[in-house]
Amino acid sequence: MSKIDERYKEACIICEEKKERGIHIFSEFICWECEQNIVHTETDENKYRYYVDKLQKISQSKLYS
Ligand SMILES: [Zn+2]
Repeated sequence: MSKIDERYKEACIICEEKKERGIHIFSEFICWECEQNIVHTETDENKYRYYVDKLQKISQSKLYS
């Protein structure tokens, strides 16, 4: 029985859940599920705006930190 080591999990900046699979944008972690959502929300304007706003806030906070 294999248990995933908590140290390999990172908190996703969008859903705020700890996941072991994902990508890094602006050195922040986005889980695989959220990344797939972003990729597939091009036609959903409101959802897309939500993700873009989140990412812009992160990039801005990096600039001023
Ligand atoms: Zn997520």
